[in-house]
Amino acid sequence: MEPQQGGSNRRAPACNFSCAFCGKGFIRETQCEEHMRRRHLGENPHFCPHCEAEFATKKKRDAHVAAMHPGEE
Ligand SMILES: [Zn+2]
Ligand SMILES: [Zn+2]
Repeated sequence: MEPQQGGSNRRAPACNFSCAFCGKGFIRETQCEEHMRRRHLGENPHFCPHCEAEFATKKKRDAHVAAMHPGEE
């Protein structure tokens, strides 16, 4: 027997895909793959430690951190 859920049809969170490395959830598979490539597989290793921004070079990353996250380091 299956108990009734009181009529509320709660759906699962919108994140259908999750990163195999850190577990971060994504709505689209392409987003998940891109995240894993860039964040964990070294394709674009210069990412901001404070937000999701990613950069081609460490210099650009440092400039972003200084401008967008002053006093957080
Ligand atoms: Zn991840
Ligand atoms: Zn940032």
